[in-house]
Amino acid sequence: ENALVEFRHLKTHFHTSNGTVKAVNNVSFKIREGETLCVVGESGCGKSVTAMTMMRLIDSPHSSEGEIWFEGQNLLSLNTKQMQRIRGNEISIIFQEPMSSLNPVLTIGEQIMEPLLMHTLMSNREAKEHAIELIRLVGISRPEIIFKSYPHELSGGMRQRIMIAIALSCNPKLLIADEPTTALDVTIQAQILDLMRDLKAKMKTSIMLITHDLGVVAEMADYVVVMYAGNVIEEASVFDLFKRPKHPYTQGLLKAKPVINQRQQRLYSIPGQVPNPIELENNCHFHERCEFCMQICREKVPPLRADEEGHKVACWLYEDEGGQPS
Ligand code: SF4
Ligand code: MG
Repeated sequence: ENALVEFRHLKTHFHTSNGTVKAVNNVSFKIREGETLCVVGESGCGKSVTAMTMMRLIDSPHSSEGEIWFEGQNLLSLNTKQMQRIRGNEISIIFQEPMSSLNPVLTIGEQIMEPLLMHTLMSNREAKEHAIELIRLVGISRPEIIFKSYPHELSGGMRQRIMIAIALSCNPKLLIADEPTTALDVTIQAQILDLMRDLKAKMKTSIMLITHDLGVVAEMADYVVVMYAGNVIEEASVFDLFKRPKHPYTQGLLKAKPVINQRQQRLYSIPGQVPNPIELENNCHFHERCEFCMQICREKVPPLRADEEGHKVACWLYEDEGGQPS
């Protein structure tokens, strides 16, 4: 399959009064056409910053290096106008808390019509008809009533459905979903995930789904990228990753058992903490938490390499197994 997106050696560092926060360090991976790719890791590992860098939505002082290729263009080199043509049109994003993305003083209908009027040649009447169609598409009955409602009149689950309608309104090639169900209760989470799967099949949109929840990964992913402290430390098809996780961090994540109905309180069983992103050194960032840590792990960054099946891992444990450079 062809790559729709390719991140190449992406770095995003924030400049703060306390020092340089190395949020994303040398991240490379591809999203293929029609694929749901899950980016998984604990909070603060650089998942959201990677997506926000791609959308060019970071507004605090930072520098980004590397390339993000999308349909023959490096998104990091586009000007503001060129980027506006892509955002919400070819690439859309939805977030954990839809209330903060919806405008409280505009009706749902106005907010779904907005990207249609901005990115397509639709007339007002056509945009309205299409908006109502989109509300129906995301599984809401009586769409004409919802069209005239305001965000605060809807439940959290309904608002996330509306965000999906807005995101899909211009038929994007890529939908980025950043913890889209984390704020919702378990039943609604399952409904929203079902909806995303249905719509993906219908609209042939690729999805980059950011989550800390391996249950979500198991249910949604074709392919998985595991991030830790701003680096990709493992990537594989969802089948390979669950069947034979290679990185000690991934193995730890998979050992942590979810507690039914207590999703928010779920803790990973890996002892220790994510390193301070200001003090990251050129070594394995997991070494302080790793039971297999060797001398070299404290001294050198392990390269991300693929095995014969294409399963990639960045860990010195696998370096004498004849892996191929990725
Ligand atoms: Fe553990 Fe070393 Fe592998 Fe890092 S490189 S995960 S410290 S074995
Ligand atoms: Mg996040």
